[in-house]
Amino acid sequence: MPQLELPFENAAACAAKDVPPPAGEALLLRLREAHPRHIDERRAAELFARAARARGAASVRRVRATFRPFRSTLYSFRIDPAGTALIRFHLAFRAASDEVFLQAAHLMLARTRRARVNVERGAYDAFVAQLPHAVFNLPGTRRYSPRARTGPGRFRSLEESFARVNARYFEGRLARPRLCWSPGRSRRVLGSYDPESDRLIVSRLFDSPRVPLFVLDYLMYHELLHKHLGIGRRPDGKRCMHGPEFRRLERRYEKFREAVAFIERRAN
Ligand SMILES: [Zn+2]
Repeated sequence: MPQLELPFENAAACAAKDVPPPAGEALLLRLREAHPRHIDERRAAELFARAARARGAASVRRVRATFRPFRSTLYSFRIDPAGTALIRFHLAFRAASDEVFLQAAHLMLARTRRARVNVERGAYDAFVAQLPHAVFNLPGTRRYSPRARTGPGRFRSLEESFARVNARYFEGRLARPRLCWSPGRSRRVLGSYDPESDRLIVSRLFDSPRVPLFVLDYLMYHELLHKHLGIGRRPDGKRCMHGPEFRRLERRYEKFREAVAFIERRAN
């Protein structure tokens, strides 16, 4: 069975943390020096439009691209009702090649996970993998989403989910992190755990009576595994969020397949 990739933490979380972090601005300067022909908003929009045409994405009529100093996101993307694709790339993408942009655009435009599996993404992945962690801490970056906050959900309780999962899978030994619902009903990032702030966020998508408890608990379990295991390292020292040990433990979740299948159906 092919390994299912769920949109938990985004790829930013997997960027190499080993590179000593230079000050953000110096770093960007370096990125630009290494790639003098860095990409501007217009070029980014052109490349996205090219990918949209190639995919027959008729809903895209215009493209507007901007670059932002995101803290944990590589890009965001939506198409407004008038057909304008509004794309925001992480500032580091100014140093990316055309090929990286085209692959990123295809990933954004692939509407289902099944379609994404077929997207050629080697250049994009290689670009993201070499990003130093410092690019996620640039001036102007907001430390946290100001609206993600602790507090009860409307239908579901993260505290209760944590208590269930902690008791069942961690012998009650895990200290409770700060538990937050995401401000929006994010489909792209379903959950995240930040060891620095010990904060675990679950997409508000799961604060719903239509989502079975075992699915919410699975997300909780997944994120708590990150807290439990810490940052994994591959033999070459690169960070690895979902290594073999993670995958093995993740499958201990009682309704692993059912939960993954539910999420897969929902996310598409
Ligand atoms: Zn994860």
